[in-house]
Amino acid sequence: MTIKEKDFDRRRLLPSVDKVLRHSGLLIQKWGRIRVTDCLRSELIRLRALPINDFRQEVTLDEIIKIVENRLLMSDESSFRRIINLSGIVLHTNLGRALLPKKAIEAVVSVASCPTNLEYDLKSGGRGERDHHVEQLICELTGVEAATVVNNNAAALLLVLNTLADQKEVPVSRGELVEIGGAFRIPDIMIRSGCKLVEIGTTNRTHLRDYECAINHRTALLLKVHTCNFRVEGFTSAVEENKLSVLAKQNGIPLVVDLGSGNLIDMDKLGLPREPIVSKAVTDGADIITFSGDKLLGGPQCGIISGRRDLINRIRKNPLKRALRPDKMIYAALAEVLKLYRNPCELEKELPTIRFLKRSVVEIEAQAKRLVPELSAVLPNDYSVSADICNSQIGSGALPVENIPSYGLIVSAVNDARLIQLLNAFRKLPYPVVGRLSKGKLILDIRCMELETQFSTQLSELADLLK
Ligand SMILES: *Cc1c(COP(=O)(O)O)cnc(C)c1O
Repeated sequence: MTIKEKDFDRRRLLPSVDKVLRHSGLLIQKWGRIRVTDCLRSELIRLRALPINDFRQEVTLDEIIKIVENRLLMSDESSFRRIINLSGIVLHTNLGRALLPKKAIEAVVSVASCPTNLEYDLKSGGRGERDHHVEQLICELTGVEAATVVNNNAAALLLVLNTLADQKEVPVSRGELVEIGGAFRIPDIMIRSGCKLVEIGTTNRTHLRDYECAINHRTALLLKVHTCNFRVEGFTSAVEENKLSVLAKQNGIPLVVDLGSGNLIDMDKLGLPREPIVSKAVTDGADIITFSGDKLLGGPQCGIISGRRDLINRIRKNPLKRALRPDKMIYAALAEVLKLYRNPCELEKELPTIRFLKRSVVEIEAQAKRLVPELSAVLPNDYSVSADICNSQIGSGALPVENIPSYGLIVSAVNDARLIQLLNAFRKLPYPVVGRLSKGKLILDIRCMELETQFSTQLSELADLLK
């Protein structure tokens, strides 16, 4: 080999964009000239920037076309991945909260694929109201007169306050000025809705007289926020809905209750931690109740505003309602989820949220123990796996202090670095696995594992990732 050949820069042999394009007919047919050209251009720039030693031989035209095709195929893949949620948090906001029951999924597909009578009255041929697809069901299940739906419960509260309390005062107990998560804080949403927050009472104790003193001619309504995600213990006092509703009536103003998780059934009967029931707030005299569709209710993301018909009518007329209205797929899914609540026996079988929460520890334990040898077999020697009791949580702010006994795979590693490596490896699997760290160990809570083979058939790939 002459010196000249050795130093020859093969990057100079890379073809021009035009030349490759002339041979990329099939790619252009599939992805269009603009996308293929863009992708090709950036690939050629990348190749030309590689170190000279990376080019032991010429890159052929066919190879370049293949590289571009792979890049285009990859860019067509969805950014959404199916995840195996072993975090122990049943309603994990970052993992999309509630899973829909089969009937709701079918309903979503159906309304998404054809024109439908979303806002079309088939009797008269005139305009209909999208709320009608769910309003009767909500009334039947909660005892309210009327209901409307928006994108989430934060939007529900915003819309209620903006309609009923714009430029007016709303007294709220200091014990209820909570942060729900992310950027959602009650005081902030109140300011954005245009109302003036009047803080009353103290963090641990608020009395009826605090509300009485705060009420004046500028007061629009009383607001009670269910503080679901924390608990003040010890010397505490809060005013119950039934007392607040009497005070509100005496003053001719409505009582609005933000229930957060909005539960339709008695969780106690299912052996689960108690959460306030919507119908109880109704009989306590709340005039408007807001709650989430994708928390304990187990439906699609939405916020349900329910209560007095005259108030709901005013809320519907607010122009903001148009900006906050959900899509037809949400209505279709919500209707099917609500129908399941008519039959509590079916509910436990069909609604994933309740099914996960209701799973018996014995069953979870058996599944965990079955998986110990499978996981052990693929992990290097410096890891150890066992099965042990752990605690699940409902999630989405519902009762984080109440733990639900569960069973999990507990993995320990020789050091923290190895443990982190394992967490990363689980996330790199075809179906990424999300567990949780606790006291220097990885806990894989088996409560929400339904498709066991999906988990176990990919375990062999862990070994390679941990080398
Ligand atoms: C969760 C929650 C919200 C927000 O509901 P999203 O549906 O997540 O918007 C509002 N208020 C309370 C009390 C909550 O628990």
